[in-house]
Amino acid sequence: MRLAVLKERRAGETRVAATPETAKKFIGLGIDVVVESGAGLASGLPDDAYREAGAEIAADAAAALAGARIVLKVRAPLAHGEGEVDELALIPRGALLIGTLEALSNPNRAKLYAEAGIEACSMELLPRITRAQSMDVLSSQANLAGYRAVIEGATAFDKGFPMLMTAAGTIPAANVFIMGAGVAGLQAIATARRLGGRVSATDVRPAAKEEIKSLGAAFVGVEDAEMAQAQTAGGYAKEMSDDYKRRQAEVIAAAVAKADVVVCTALVQGRKAPTLLTEAMVASMKPGSVVVDIAADAGGNCALTVPGELTVTDGGVKILGWQNWPGRIPAAASSLYARNLLTFLSTFWDKDAKAPKLDPADEIVRGVTLTRDGAVVHAQLATAA
Ligand code: NAD
Repeated sequence: MRLAVLKERRAGETRVAATPETAKKFIGLGIDVVVESGAGLASGLPDDAYREAGAEIAADAAAALAGARIVLKVRAPLAHGEGEVDELALIPRGALLIGTLEALSNPNRAKLYAEAGIEACSMELLPRITRAQSMDVLSSQANLAGYRAVIEGATAFDKGFPMLMTAAGTIPAANVFIMGAGVAGLQAIATARRLGGRVSATDVRPAAKEEIKSLGAAFVGVEDAEMAQAQTAGGYAKEMSDDYKRRQAEVIAAAVAKADVVVCTALVQGRKAPTLLTEAMVASMKPGSVVVDIAADAGGNCALTVPGELTVTDGGVKILGWQNWPGRIPAAASSLYARNLLTFLSTFWDKDAKAPKLDPADEIVRGVTLTRDGAVVHAQLATAA
């Protein structure tokens, strides 16, 4: 059983889907691990580290994928016309492909995988259940994104987070406002508090309010009957009504006007991120304030965010719209992502057959499987079709 780990070729991607640590564990399961040369470099993992772990290094994607039965990726493999190498065409028929394939926002991908006879698992679709926590790539990556957002926000902010009492006078603590208190937002709250900021946060889910308070931050938001119903069965936020958004905007405008740093993390699964921070709100912020929009990959929570760019408004507010925030902390992100994939594969591993055994009746398998036996099988894609 040959397992291939490819170099990520999509723009700005710094992570890798296996580390020497996980390669060694896969080898322990009886798997031959082949890593494309340079795959780990951007995460500080040279070829030699994989060699020492027992992996084979392949010169290019074609050599890595030849005879592969399992392919590990961070992002979807490049398809025809998407880049210098048609990675998809090189994946052998019948192989199992595991990655964050972003299939719901790119439904054509699943069709391509089905046509290519690939069994594809899109890990961002993992159900958010207790049993799946250690395989949960969204959580591991969002956690790091939330941390990194605050660190970069603090660096861009030209005053400082803690109250600094010196003989020359006192610098007040920074007011930090976090929008969205899911995994990334809660880590952002904790990080901003550790740095000494005065932290408040908003969310629409009732459970999030309690979590915000338990981390020592103040809750800002609209609590009404709609908020009580704002969480889907899967734990995600629902798209809120226009009336709710209008009332929420009034409440958060006051918090934004006081904020030195705003960290935006609010997402609604499968949709464009909600616009919570309007142009007028940004105009109310003091010069030198910072907006960090880690929702930029989904369009951003701030109306002025330019995905992938740092912008400075006429009023002197910096807006950090970088994309792929986990990729801005690549060694840690790769380490956790790789462990998530290792846990997934070893959970669904048939020791006797020394092969993956993905039971379609299993809730986790059903949640992530896009294609099987040449057909698109995922419920959400079948509905969308
Ligand atoms: P997410 O990334 O989808 O969204 C981030 C946050 O934005 C969420 O808290 C959401 O409520 C909030 N949001 C959406 N619209 C908003 C708006 N208009 N205003 C303010 N905030 C808004 O969320 P996530 O971090 O992926 O977490 C989703 C859910 O999954 C949560 O309920 C979380 O507790 C749960 N979860 C469960 C597990 C598990 O049990 N295995 C693991 C991780 C997360």
